Amino acid sequence: MCLTIPAQVIKLEKGKAVIQENDRFKQIQISLVPNLKVGDWILYINDSALEKIPRNEAKEILELLEVPYQKIDISRLSGKFRDIIQTSKSKDLTKEEVVYLLKTKELEQKALFSEANLVRKTYIKDFICIHGIIEFSNFCKNDCLYCGLRKENLTLPRYRMSIEDIVNIADKAVTEAGYKLLVLQSGEDYFYTDDILEEIIKKIKEKCRVFIFISIGERGYKCYERLKKAGASGVLFRFETSNLELFKKLHPQGKNLANRFEHLRFMKELGYFIATGSIIGLPNQTIENLAEDILTTKKWAHMVSTGPFVPCDNTPLANLVHGNIEMSLKTIAILRLMMKNARIPVVTALETLAGENGRKRALQAGANSLMFNLTPENYRPFYKIYPDKFFQKETIWQKYGLFKYEESYKMLEERMTKEIEKEKYATN
Ligand code: SAH
Repeated sequence: MCLTIPAQVIKLEKGKAVIQENDRFKQIQISLVPNLKVGDWILYINDSALEKIPRNEAKEILELLEVPYQKIDISRLSGKFRDIIQTSKSKDLTKEEVVYLLKTKELEQKALFSEANLVRKTYIKDFICIHGIIEFSNFCKNDCLYCGLRKENLTLPRYRMSIEDIVNIADKAVTEAGYKLLVLQSGEDYFYTDDILEEIIKKIKEKCRVFIFISIGERGYKCYERLKKAGASGVLFRFETSNLELFKKLHPQGKNLANRFEHLRFMKELGYFIATGSIIGLPNQTIENLAEDILTTKKWAHMVSTGPFVPCDNTPLANLVHGNIEMSLKTIAILRLMMKNARIPVVTALETLAGENGRKRALQAGANSLMFNLTPENYRPFYKIYPDKFFQKETIWQKYGLFKYEESYKMLEERMTKEIEKEKYATN
């Protein structure tokens, strides 16, 4: 589902309402919302009002979403900065240009955010799409140094959800709350055989119309082929870092960078919609490494999944400092300049470090979607990839999530097909 910015009716003329959208006035149809008066607040899509909403709730949504749009006068900034922004409008950026943007400070950093925000507003308007994630098992066979689910973390109580529970939670999220895209995530847990995973996906698809993304690790071609046939649409599968040395240090056993990219390759071939990216602020990661991660994300991702490192207790990296919030926001902004139509979610790790304000700042830096946690509360504390995971105030979002029904499914389907098709033509 999506949430959109409400508008106030300024005038009524010839059976239409006049509202202000960004800097301009716009006339919209009001046939679906009878008895509108000047001063009322509405939710609208394109040229049509959909629903009247109380003033205080409109204010609450505005608080959450609206970006006090500050166009920075870039003519006062360096020629280099201006050239890069100009280049980004029609061409891919080079590593050197990305490094420059990652190093921006003060006014140039603000200008980077405002340019990225402008791209989001121009290409995807003010829709904030909301997806759900169900973390169905915290067992993991791997030992990634940063992750609290690593198998050597014996202090963590482990859980597995039953097939029935997973299917019911998904069904409720779709039929009651209106979710249209759900991520099923777990550690790399072979208790769930290919047969079981196939059964879960088939059962969810039989019960409700929803896009299922899986985030279950390196399960090999055969597994992903079966799950695609069973009805999975996408994967959430990060390459974590594109730097081989760094990857090796962080994954002394289990995960392997070549295998990770091999997975991304065949996932693409199988027609999966790919959400991928890296972790920002890993130990010994340089700005150049981050720039390479950005270029690698651009190469593989239909949807971005990138966020700061959060140190987790009972892991070898417990005492390190967390990833830099500004660097994470700059990464989002640069990716928005490079991937104009892509879904860029605000990830929970950023919200954990920076709270509600982090979410808002990420939306202002070009992000356009959110991932809500649908894991049952009794399991949540144990899906501890990192501590103190942020849990949001979901009510206002769920209440006014628009396009809850068929429309939103079709819209998503069209957009995802377009992205995948675009790529086929580009690579053929
Ligand atoms: N088993 C799946 C899902 C892994 S958990 C897979 O292998 O793809 C999802 C993501 O959480 C990981 O890919 C990693 O990027 C991120 N993550 C894990 N520990 C983290 C930490 N301490 N800080 C920030 N992100 C972390």
